[in-house]
Amino acid sequence: MIALVQRHAERSDHLHHHCALVVKHGRILSIGVNRNSNHAEEDAIGSLSSRVKGATLYSFRVKGNRLLLAKPCQHRFDGRPSCEELIRRAGIKWVIYSTSTGEMKRSRV
Ligand SMILES: [Zn+2]
Repeated sequence: MIALVQRHAERSDHLHHHCALVVKHGRILSIGVNRNSNHAEEDAIGSLSSRVKGATLYSFRVKGNRLLLAKPCQHRFDGRPSCEELIRRAGIKWVIYSTSTGEMKRSRV
């Protein structure tokens, strides 16, 4: 999965490349990256319909071959809903994100 994430993260136009995947029943429903003012999670969730209910969201922050902390944001300063809120609204149950030590952490939304 990391090679896939690295490939997609290159689409990001930010210094820190974020990549988010929505996965359900072992299938990737969508892949998002941070671009313009969009966060990777909202890019990934954005085009999905109710099929996303019960899915898992993977969130990665990539720097070269390293993974960094990619916990979905809980607050945004531009008045838009946070990624955590978007994840909850979409009915996504689990989030798995990379940490600053390069490990993956799983948390329930
Ligand atoms: Zn966010």
